[in-house]
Amino acid sequence: MVARTLSSMSYADLRELQSALSTASDIAFALDAAPAPHEADQLLDALRRALAAAGALGAGIGTTACAEHPKGPVDPLYGDKEDPLPPGWGRCLLCNDRRRRASAQRRGWR
Ligand SMILES: [Zn+2]
Repeated sequence: MVARTLSSMSYADLRELQSALSTASDIAFALDAAPAPHEADQLLDALRRALAAAGALGAGIGTTACAEHPKGPVDPLYGDKEDPLPPGWGRCLLCNDRRRRASAQRRGWR
Protein backbone atom coordinates (compact mmCIF):
# COMPACT_ATOMS: atom_id res chain seq x y z
CA MET A 1 0.00 0.00 0.00
CA VAL A 2 2.66 2.45 1.08
CA ALA A 3 4.99 1.28 -1.68
CA ARG A 4 2.29 1.75 -4.31
CA THR A 5 1.63 5.31 -3.15
CA LEU A 6 5.34 6.11 -3.25
CA SER A 7 5.86 4.63 -6.68
CA SER A 8 2.87 6.50 -8.10
CA MET A 9 4.31 9.65 -6.55
CA SER A 10 7.65 9.14 -8.25
CA TYR A 11 5.83 8.36 -11.49
CA ALA A 12 4.18 11.78 -11.22
CA ASP A 13 7.60 13.30 -10.56
CA LEU A 14 8.97 11.54 -13.62
CA ARG A 15 6.14 12.84 -15.81
CA GLU A 16 6.72 16.32 -14.38
CA LEU A 17 10.45 16.06 -15.11
CA GLN A 18 9.82 14.96 -18.69
CA SER A 19 7.23 17.65 -19.30
CA ALA A 20 9.42 20.39 -17.80
CA LEU A 21 12.47 19.27 -19.78
CA SER A 22 10.52 19.11 -23.00
CA THR A 23 9.14 22.61 -22.37
CA ALA A 24 12.66 23.87 -21.64
CA SER A 25 14.12 22.30 -24.77
CA ASP A 26 11.22 23.58 -26.92
CA ILE A 27 11.98 27.10 -25.72
CA ALA A 28 15.75 26.70 -26.03
CA PHE A 29 15.65 25.24 -29.55
CA ALA A 30 13.13 27.82 -30.75
CA LEU A 31 15.54 30.63 -29.86
CA ASP A 32 17.67 32.09 -32.61
CA ALA A 33 18.75 35.15 -30.66
CA ALA A 34 18.96 36.21 -27.05
CA PRO A 35 15.63 35.35 -25.39
CA ALA A 36 13.08 38.07 -24.69
CA PRO A 37 12.53 38.60 -20.96
CA HIS A 38 9.32 36.53 -20.93
CA GLU A 39 11.05 33.71 -22.81
CA ALA A 40 13.94 33.75 -20.35
CA ASP A 41 11.40 33.59 -17.52
CA GLN A 42 9.60 30.65 -19.11
CA LEU A 43 12.88 28.84 -19.66
CA LEU A 44 13.99 29.42 -16.06
CA ASP A 45 10.61 28.35 -14.78
CA ALA A 46 10.70 25.12 -16.80
CA LEU A 47 14.25 24.38 -15.64
CA ARG A 48 13.29 25.01 -12.01
CA ARG A 49 10.36 22.62 -12.39
CA ALA A 50 12.76 20.06 -13.88
CA LEU A 51 15.19 20.53 -10.99
CA ALA A 52 12.45 20.17 -8.39
CA ALA A 53 11.06 17.06 -10.07
CA ALA A 54 14.54 15.54 -10.42
CA GLY A 55 15.17 16.30 -6.75
CA ALA A 56 11.91 14.62 -5.78
CA LEU A 57 12.83 11.58 -7.88
CA GLY A 58 16.23 11.37 -6.21
CA ALA A 59 14.59 11.68 -2.81
CA GLY A 60 12.79 8.41 -3.57
CA ILE A 61 16.11 6.59 -3.42
CA GLY A 62 16.62 7.46 0.22
CA THR A 63 18.88 10.49 0.34
CA THR A 64 18.50 10.81 4.12
CA ALA A 65 20.31 7.47 4.59
CA CYS A 66 18.02 7.04 7.60
CA ALA A 67 16.67 3.57 8.29
CA GLU A 68 13.56 5.00 9.93
CA HIS A 69 12.74 7.78 7.45
CA PRO A 70 14.55 6.88 4.21
CA LYS A 71 12.22 9.09 2.20
CA GLY A 72 12.03 11.90 4.73
CA PRO A 73 13.34 15.42 4.25
CA VAL A 74 17.07 16.12 4.40
CA ASP A 75 18.18 18.54 7.12
CA PRO A 76 19.03 21.82 5.34
CA LEU A 77 21.85 22.38 7.84
CA TYR A 78 23.53 19.12 6.87
CA GLY A 79 26.89 19.99 5.34
CA ASP A 80 26.56 23.64 6.42
CA LYS A 81 30.04 24.91 7.30
CA GLU A 82 28.79 28.05 9.06
CA ASP A 83 26.47 26.22 11.41
CA PRO A 84 27.53 22.57 11.48
CA LEU A 85 25.38 19.87 13.01
CA PRO A 86 26.71 18.17 16.15
CA PRO A 87 28.97 15.17 15.45
CA GLY A 88 27.07 11.96 14.89
CA TRP A 89 23.96 13.63 13.52
CA GLY A 90 22.73 12.37 10.19
CA ARG A 91 21.04 13.91 7.19
CA CYS A 92 17.51 13.06 8.33
CA LEU A 93 15.58 16.19 9.32
CA LEU A 94 12.99 14.23 11.29
CA CYS A 95 15.62 12.50 13.45
CA ASN A 96 17.61 15.72 13.86
CA ASP A 97 14.48 17.57 14.99
CA ARG A 98 13.90 14.81 17.53
CA ARG A 99 17.52 15.24 18.72
CA ARG A 100 17.04 19.02 18.89
CA ARG A 101 13.92 18.62 21.01
CA ALA A 102 15.66 16.09 23.26
CA SER A 103 18.68 18.31 23.86
CA ALA A 104 16.44 21.34 24.42
CA GLN A 105 14.56 19.36 27.09
CA ARG A 106 17.83 18.35 28.73
CA ARG A 107 18.64 22.04 29.06
CA GLY A 108 15.27 22.55 30.73
CA TRP A 109 13.56 24.30 27.83
CA ARG A 110 9.86 24.04 27.29
ZN1 LIG B 1 15.15 9.65 10.50
